[in-house]
Order: sequence, then structure tokens, then C-alpha cells
Amino acid sequence: MSEIDLHTHSTASDGTDSPSQLVEKACAAGLRAIALTDHDTIGGLDEASEAACDLGIELIRGCEISTRTDLGNMHMLGLFLPADSSRLEAFLQRLRDNRDSRNNLIIEKLNRAGLRITVDEVRQIAGTTIGRPHIAAVMLQKGYCETRDEAFSKWLDTGGKAFVPKPAPTPEQALAILAEIGATTCLAHPLHKQRPLDWLDKLISRLESEGLDCLEVWHSSHDAEKSAIILDFARKYRLGASGGSDYHGKNKPGISLGTGKSNLDLGYDILENLKRMRKERNLPH
Ligand code: AMP
Ligand code: ZN
Ligand code: FE
Ligand code: FE
Repeated sequence: MSEIDLHTHSTASDGTDSPSQLVEKACAAGLRAIALTDHDTIGGLDEASEAACDLGIELIRGCEISTRTDLGNMHMLGLFLPADSSRLEAFLQRLRDNRDSRNNLIIEKLNRAGLRITVDEVRQIAGTTIGRPHIAAVMLQKGYCETRDEAFSKWLDTGGKAFVPKPAPTPEQALAILAEIGATTCLAHPLHKQRPLDWLDKLISRLESEGLDCLEVWHSSHDAEKSAIILDFARKYRLGASGGSDYHGKNKPGISLGTGKSNLDLGYDILENLKRMRKERNLPH
């Protein structure tokens, strides 16, 4: 039975539970602590924090930043964000502005192909961070495709008819801003997409020297073998180990808080280790 979940999404990005619903569900699932890590936004944190306080569960303030590498996007989690992170908020606002420009281009392409979808329709169903999952949802609603997978494979994914690459910062830029505000940084689901291990080794080595703190060893998309590989990398580079389900509510069916796809057993000691690392560096924990 998991006691913690350090990677979750709410309606502030592309999850389907509001921040307070998410906290209530975490409580009902018997979790002692969760991190809310919405994509490119910290907009859900105050609501989640308040709910957590009421229910007596620990909330770690977090976010998940999309970054670009030569082999596609990698996600960087920031954990233990301070309550006042205006510098981070300014950085994330720029990322969301870039997303908006990209979303407009995607919608233009869809319109040119005869799919009548407007930016307003997409905005209406989205929270702070708007992305392809919201566009896919409107496509489904309006009957332009049968499934979410079809919306992605035929239209929105790399190679799809309305694909537009996402402008994103480098992992180093994300690390710099997160380090500046004293966050614990974590490379998210390193093997979510299969990538050459020697490439991943080089990336982790590079990021470790840029201040990366830990690797997300346990994740819904990691089987035991993948987790073992990432744990070896963490040991090799003396990095911490984190874990979370990447729960998105109904937007990622089959993934439960804490347990993921029944492949997770996240003990409180994982969080304690992260806190110990922070204590050693005199950071709030
Ligand atoms: P965006 O941040 O706008 O580029 O959208 C990325 C999100 O879209 C990811 O976090 C996934 O939740 C979702 N996504 C990406 N590819 C697919 C796919 N092939 N099928 C379903 N969802 C996807
Ligand atoms: Zn997401
Ligand atoms: Fe991610
Ligand atoms: Fe995520």
C-alpha cells in the first residue's frame, strides 16, 4: 500500500479532479502525502494546500515543466516550491503564453482541414495550462474523432496533420529557475518513452552537474525493470529517488492515486529521504 504520491495533476492543467477533489481522493485512498505537480502552472497549489490542511494530509507544492532535448521532450518536476514563488510564476507564465501561440496554430491547422473548433471552446474546458489534451477533448465532444488516441495519432501527435512542435525551455533553464527558489528538482519518468540508455546516461550526467537532485524511479509507465535501471542511475550519480503515479483522473484512465497501474508501492521513507537531502542543504523541509 502506497503512503505517498509525488506526481499528480488537477484541473489547473490536464487532470479532471479539482485540486481540492484530488486532495480528498488522496485522503480517501489512505495517502499521507501527495505532491500536486501540474504542467507549467502553480495555479492549483493554494486550493490544494488549504484542502490538505483541513483534511490533515501533507501537501508538497510542485509543478512539472516541459523541457526540450535533442530526442524530444523531457519533463522536470519541481518539488517543495515555496508558497511565494513569483519568479517561478513569471517563468511559467511565459511558457503558458508560448503554449497559447502553439495551440492557436494547431487550431488553425484543424480549421483549414475542415474541423470547426475555436480557441474559446478549448478555453472553456481548460484550467490555467491549456494543451493538446484539451483540444483532443473538444474534437471528441464535437464528433471529429471517436477516441482520444485517434485525435492524437491522426491529428495532434508528431506526424499528425495538425502537429505543431511545442516551444520549450532546455532542462538546464528549468533547473536554474527551480534551483533559484530552493526547489528539489526531479527528472520525471525518464523511461516513459524508450530512449537509448547511453543517451539517458549522458543527459543525467550533464544535469547532475547542473544541480539536478533526483530521478523519478517509480512511475506508472515504469515496470520493475525500468525502475531498476533508473535506480541504478540514481546510485551512479548520487541522486535521490522519487516516485509518483502521474494521476490525471479520467484523462488517464487506469491510473490510480498512489498505486498507478497497480505497479507502485511508495513508502513514506521516499519522502523522508528527499527531506533529509533538503535538510543537509539547509533548505526548508
Ligand atoms: P502538450 O503539453 O500540449 O504537448 O500535451 C501533452 C500531453 O498530451 C501529455 O501530457 C499527454 O497527457 C497527452 N498525450 C500526448 N500524446 C498522447 C497520445 N498519443 N495519446 C493520448 N494522450 C497523449
Ligand atoms: Zn498531463
Ligand atoms: Fe510528464
Ligand atoms: Fe505528469
